[in-house]
Amino acid sequence: MSSNTFLGMPTLPVFGHGNLNATEPFPQAAHRELGNEQLRANLGHATHTIRDKRLKVVAELPDWEDMRDAGSAIKNATLANLPALLEQFETNFTARGGIIHWARDANEANQIVTALIRETGETEVVKVKSMATQEIGLNEYLEEQGIAAYETDLAELIVQLDHDKPSHILVPAIHKNRSQVREIFLREMPVVDPNLTDEPARLAEAARTHLRKKFLSAKVAISGANFGLADTGTLTVVESEGNGRMCLTLPETLITVMGIEKLLPRWEDLEVFMQLLPRSSTGERMNPYTSLWTGVTPGDGPQNVHLVMLDNGRTAALADEFGRTALNCIRCSACMNVCPVYERTGGHAYGSTYPGPIGAILSPLMTGIKSEENNSLPYASSLCGACFDACPVKINIPEILVHLRGEDVDSQRAKLKVPSQMDLMMKGAEWAFSSGAHLNLLEKGLPLGKFAAGRDKVIKKLPGLAGGWTQSRDIPAPPSQSFRQWWAKEHQPGAAAIPGNSSAGTTEGEQA
Ligand code: SF4
Repeated sequence: MSSNTFLGMPTLPVFGHGNLNATEPFPQAAHRELGNEQLRANLGHATHTIRDKRLKVVAELPDWEDMRDAGSAIKNATLANLPALLEQFETNFTARGGIIHWARDANEANQIVTALIRETGETEVVKVKSMATQEIGLNEYLEEQGIAAYETDLAELIVQLDHDKPSHILVPAIHKNRSQVREIFLREMPVVDPNLTDEPARLAEAARTHLRKKFLSAKVAISGANFGLADTGTLTVVESEGNGRMCLTLPETLITVMGIEKLLPRWEDLEVFMQLLPRSSTGERMNPYTSLWTGVTPGDGPQNVHLVMLDNGRTAALADEFGRTALNCIRCSACMNVCPVYERTGGHAYGSTYPGPIGAILSPLMTGIKSEENNSLPYASSLCGACFDACPVKINIPEILVHLRGEDVDSQRAKLKVPSQMDLMMKGAEWAFSSGAHLNLLEKGLPLGKFAAGRDKVIKKLPGLAGGWTQSRDIPAPPSQSFRQWWAKEHQPGAAAIPGNSSAGTTEGEQA
């Protein structure tokens, strides 16, 4: 073949988004997860610890806000110029001996990776922690094909050994404490000291012993990439344990799966992101292990270097003028560590690979808001804005959430073809507030509220859509007169002045 670029497998008939779709609506999943006290305790402790560390290191930099602006500007420019940058990256990557494959979706990416592993004749691979491969469900796919994929990141290893799913993009086992980890190791590791304690150093030692054999025997490694640099064709992996470095250098074949939005135009741009990322993610001043590789170096490191460039809904997200900045995400996880909803429900409630505030916008943008599994995600937020404040690339998550909610309402309305309860309520409100006479008429019904409330003067259950409000709280009985009615009475000729008026401010509603 004259070119080192393979254009995926364009004739594949099946398309799928992999693990981007939730299997149940968020409220249902969140309800279940909220009942897990251990999960809530672990999460509360872990998110608060990372959050405090982040605040401390961010406060050290006087130009932090300028850096956020720079990060945001670089990412926006990348998205605006993505097709040209992808071509530039491809030219530089292939010129240095790498081979690029383009995958339209999760199915295609999985099939490409499997075919590449089969070419090597291997049935075992080691993996660096990678969101993209989780997104496409690569481990599950490889297992079906008879290929064993071993996660080498400690937290990923814990989750994999427990046949569980990650619940945080940076700390995948955030929902487990160390005594749970000890139990998992004792149960699942083929060779382990039966006297293993739950001391972190002992647990790390057990994991190291377990993984070392895999590193030394593996001929194929699979990684993700944090950044791809268009002007040099370089890939970057940022990690904390050094396991990634072993995967990226020891095996003969290296297959990387990277989302097409992960490009940066220039090598110098790393200067900004290597400051933003560690401080925002782990609360560290610099990242412990940063690996950069450019194609193949004869006699040094992997000699077969492949890159699968993954779309899987990214071009759909890019086409959404309002929501496209979600693609600027550098997966630092700062937004989930400050999110009051995530802190209580944990990551599994979001269903998709991407949990928390960024997941609540990214998953529906990539799968389309019409996808029923993900259309409840934009509501998984109090819109407090903490995620926007924490985001190192200034993604306005609350604004995109509101935009997606609007799209969901429009799509539901189109499906129903008749006005929904919310439409009717809004129409009623429009009518009531459109004139004083309408409001007067409505207020005449206030005494009826007393009947609904009964003797204890609280309404415990409302019908229909309004019932959502009374599911977890009572409503005080409405006053027998409205403020407007009271005002009109008090200001009738001959009524006492307000401050001294004996009846002022004593409507039942106000007392309640
Ligand atoms: S949205 Fe922002 S804060 Fe959240 S993970 Fe992405 S870059 Fe980090």
